[in-house]
Amino acid sequence: MIKKVPFCKVVCDGNELKYITEVIESGWLTTASKTTEFEKLFSKYVESKYACAVNSCTAALHLGLEALGVQRGDKVFVPSLTFTASAEVIRYLGADPVFLDVDYDTKLITPEILKQAVEENPDIKHLILVHYGGHPADLIREKGDGILDICRANNIKIIEDAAHAFPAKIGDKFVGNIGDVTCFSFYANKTITSGEGGMLTTNNEDIYKRVKTMRLHGINRDVWDRFTSDKPSWEYDVVAPGFKYNMPDVTAAIGLAQLERAEDLRLGRQKAVELYYKHLSGLDMVDLSKNTVPFEDHAWHLFTIVLNEKSKIGRNKFIEKLSEKGIGTSVHYKPVHLMTYYKEKYGVQSALSNTEKIWNGTVTLPLFPSMTEEEVIYVCDTIKEILK
Ligand SMILES: *Cc1c(COP(=O)(O)O)cnc(C)c1O
Repeated sequence: MIKKVPFCKVVCDGNELKYITEVIESGWLTTASKTTEFEKLFSKYVESKYACAVNSCTAALHLGLEALGVQRGDKVFVPSLTFTASAEVIRYLGADPVFLDVDYDTKLITPEILKQAVEENPDIKHLILVHYGGHPADLIREKGDGILDICRANNIKIIEDAAHAFPAKIGDKFVGNIGDVTCFSFYANKTITSGEGGMLTTNNEDIYKRVKTMRLHGINRDVWDRFTSDKPSWEYDVVAPGFKYNMPDVTAAIGLAQLERAEDLRLGRQKAVELYYKHLSGLDMVDLSKNTVPFEDHAWHLFTIVLNEKSKIGRNKFIEKLSEKGIGTSVHYKPVHLMTYYKEKYGVQSALSNTEKIWNGTVTLPLFPSMTEEEVIYVCDTIKEILK
């Protein structure tokens, strides 16, 4: 009889230790060959031309916006239903976020939402697109305009926040090979982890070169290049006041081991999600997220439900009751535009009614690769019991 289901459980029993040992024995603990290997294999996986490993997805987003030329006083579209990192990086550059609403069923920015926002704000030239929960947003549509078409037509650059979306696909393309820049997270609870870490992918050589320079102090050669090329190792130039965002090899070692099993881990989560849909469909008081892509194309990072107005119990009480039954949950997200800093600085910019409706009722249920059928059923039965 199950009494406890954690919110998340990290699977770290592949080659992680072996690769870490290799790094320690190599004597080179910061950015070196393991990081280069991780970048190569990651870009091969998502079929992007370039990949740049950094120490967080937040760093990748910052570097991506910087390389795309976002400047002080610019405005950048971003959904409010996201982690604060997606918006804070806009402020790093002195630019201002313009928060967009999302579709209630998918929790994503849709081409329709974007089209309207572009009409109202023709001066905005950058979009941060979040693939919420691992569900790839509608960048490319078979019929009609996808987000990519709208952006191209209006000269808007896209930076994808794919912190939830590895591995995920849109048609025959991987997320990471579509927008101008894509940023991934390897934070401890993400779909693959390196403890802390991130990756930026792009097909644009200029962006790649800029990011590579800016991730390490604006130095025009990275440390590894300096010690492996035949030019004197002490010689380097600084072309901009860059940042300190490089990924150490110990971190890359963990990432490499995780990358090898990314599809296995994804499939483990997918199986749990299939069971959730089976056991939670048809409950009056619960709105499930609508999945619009093939199950295999979704990264399945989060499984969220929304308690709707028919529910007699509020979200916070519901979470307490689940916790009493040993079930770990979370909330994704308290919208960024409702956070004190953004509220005080920008006020509530426009009606984000779906975002607020989701926020009022949303709960994220446990989801991890090794989750058993018994565990999913325990969570579902407990939910039915609470809502009875
Ligand atoms: C986790 C997360 C980030 C930040 O990732 P870090 O690697 O922790 O910097 C950014 N955006 C979203 C949507 C996230 O969930």
